[in-house]
Amino acid sequence: MQLIILSGKGGTGKTTITASFAYLQKEGVKVDCDVEASNLHIILQGTNEEEHDFFGAKVAKIDSAKCIKCEACKYVCRFDAISEFKVDELKCEGCAACTVVCPKKAISLYDEVTGKTIITETDYGILSHADMEIGAEGSGKLVTELRKNAARFTGEGELVLLDGSPGVGCPVMASLTGCDAALLVVEPTQSGLVDFLRVLELVRFFKIKPYVCINKYDLNYIITRQIYRTCWKEKVPILGEIPFDPMVKQAVNELKPVVVYPESSAGRQINMLWNRLQMKLKEDN
Ligand code: SF4
Ligand code: SF4
Repeated sequence: MQLIILSGKGGTGKTTITASFAYLQKEGVKVDCDVEASNLHIILQGTNEEEHDFFGAKVAKIDSAKCIKCEACKYVCRFDAISEFKVDELKCEGCAACTVVCPKKAISLYDEVTGKTIITETDYGILSHADMEIGAEGSGKLVTELRKNAARFTGEGELVLLDGSPGVGCPVMASLTGCDAALLVVEPTQSGLVDFLRVLELVRFFKIKPYVCINKYDLNYIITRQIYRTCWKEKVPILGEIPFDPMVKQAVNELKPVVVYPESSAGRQINMLWNRLQMKLKEDN
């Protein structure tokens, strides 16, 4: 069983909720699919047990011994990546057009390291996550690799928690494939509501059962009511309302899941959300 925690954009409290679920679940496998802003490992901490280079892109290289300086490659490259018979690796998109036009077969494509895949043993189970190069390509492929890594540690019927990428782009698609349920974290803002509907459409496209929780619901009661109406119309169960709570910031600063603070109102609501979610997952699957 794979449960993904998603939001329409970053900063909606998705990782706060996932880290708290990880704490409450204790054992089990977690995957940080938010590869462009990976941070679950900072809260869960632990020891890195495996690290492997990830080759997420191709880059062209010119063999100067074969090159006759005809410049055909320079003119065919739409990314302006070739000058002085050398390839600028930062501009090269690995499209291979230059390899096709080169009359001397002097250009080859090479795999480029765009990040690392990491398995970390934490006090709350195994975490599969990545350290991606800034601005690197191939984030969708990297997510797929992280999920394959996680599968090696997952027992039959175990619940796997995935911290999804925000938005509706390529890494989100790679995170969603094969999931059974999605918890959509929504904040009560106009843009939050619009983003939520886009993510909901995507989740439904992948035939994944959606659930909702409203984070900081008390910051705008009018939009919170609109979210309720929308969910009612869309037949999506709302499993929790988390209040604005300054303890969340304190927990982030102290690198702890907010549920470890018994005095935190947000922590108590996340605890209840986790219990409701588990019951729903049992009922619906
Ligand atoms: S592989 Fe494509 S982007 Fe890279 S240098 Fe060749 S033509 Fe340009
Ligand atoms: S197309 Fe081939 S031979 Fe011509 S300049 Fe480029 S690398 Fe050299």
